[in-house]
Amino acid sequence: MFRLSAVRPSHFLPSVCLLVSGLAAAYVRDLNVFFTSLFNVLPTLVLLLGGAYCAVYRRQRELFLMVTVYIAYFLLDTQTDFYRDNGRVREDAAVVFHLVCLLLPLMFALYAAWQERTHLFQDMVARFAVLLAVGSVALGLEQSFPQAVLSWLAEIRWPSLHGQWMSLIQLAYPVFIIAFVLLVVQYLREPRPLHAAQVIGLIGIFWMLPKTFILPFTLNIMCSQVMLMIAAAVSHEAYQMAFRDELTGLPGRRALNERMQRLGRNYVLAMTDVDHFKKFNDTHGHDVGDQVLRLVASKLSKVTGGGRAYRYGGEEFALVFAGKSIEECMPHLEAVREVIANYNIQLRNQDNRPQDDQQGRQRRGASAASSVSVTISIGASERLIDHRSPDEVLKSADQALYSAKGAGRNCVMAYGHQVKRGAVRTA
Ligand code: GH3
Ligand code: MG
Ligand code: MG
Repeated sequence: MFRLSAVRPSHFLPSVCLLVSGLAAAYVRDLNVFFTSLFNVLPTLVLLLGGAYCAVYRRQRELFLMVTVYIAYFLLDTQTDFYRDNGRVREDAAVVFHLVCLLLPLMFALYAAWQERTHLFQDMVARFAVLLAVGSVALGLEQSFPQAVLSWLAEIRWPSLHGQWMSLIQLAYPVFIIAFVLLVVQYLREPRPLHAAQVIGLIGIFWMLPKTFILPFTLNIMCSQVMLMIAAAVSHEAYQMAFRDELTGLPGRRALNERMQRLGRNYVLAMTDVDHFKKFNDTHGHDVGDQVLRLVASKLSKVTGGGRAYRYGGEEFALVFAGKSIEECMPHLEAVREVIANYNIQLRNQDNRPQDDQQGRQRRGASAASSVSVTISIGASERLIDHRSPDEVLKSADQALYSAKGAGRNCVMAYGHQVKRGAVRTA
């Protein structure tokens, strides 16, 4: 259920940086005119730019999250402006503030957990309808029965659970807790930058609300930061889509091309190719083939000697060793080839999958699991006097790979060196 292996600190990094910078900025006293003017326009600016950005990428979920945060900002900003100008709060301040404390985490969690599944336009209409319904009911009740709504919101329902530190209405705390658990579970089930940003964004909102009237500009700063977290997550995911290979999680061909533009004077490029993979796919099926590619990718990504692995395409991978000579790289290439050749991949037999656990336990170790192994061939080349451009070096590595295949596969060949490393095995 949880994909803990896919959890990455990098998913949280941009949001945590934005949260920490928001907290730091909120505590700064005596801001100069430049910053006060900036903070006054920042939320609107972020909504316009971030909203346009989400619209271009057709990310409705994120767009509605931003709009939710902005509406809460707008409602509370009207109140804090009045408070700043008149030294006292408006008559409807309490009811508006309490309503926002209840509805903001609720709507934030709802839009955050509401995945885009249906047709884009229907999805937008459904989200808009929910926003409109909740907004109009809340506004209608607040306008018609302000006193009754206020006492319902402010009521202490569970006196034994009430702490002196609670500066929001009691009802807001369970909503925040449920929203937080929901978003954490969502992240653990599907770890991706957006889900991480939503968790950190909710923490930012939780921190912001009690300080709304206490720290000037907290509202403007934190709402902007939360909207920025969402926009940053959208761009993080767009970057991953462009530069990461989805199947293996390795950087893809585009990332390799970028890396090749920034290589220094000395480097080694190696091309690796899985041996007889077409036959493997034909025997075991494409799904098992995919599983094996993931495993090969994971082993290649752990290559020693400072090498970095890229999925070049199909069952071909490239390894880049910056600042290294071919002599330095050969033992590392040899080691990774050996690791892959010696690894027995356990396969669950999908067709014979037992119906229940009891049967499964009896059969495990017998027909339910089978093991397979694959080998790879590697061709490597370094930058030479007559091969100066990375493209030429890559071509030489490809030629060396071709020689490795010709020499019986499951071996490492270096361009221009006639020495073949590794055991020759028939697959
Ligand atoms: P050789 O040892 O000469 O490399 O033989 P080969 O069969 O591996 O060579 P070839 O390049 O002709 O075959 C590559 C095969 O890799 C073709 C295709 O079925 C398989 N393949 C490419 N991409 C994928 C993928 O993403 N998933 C799976 N399962 N198979 C793939
Ligand atoms: Mg191939
Ligand atoms: Mg192959």
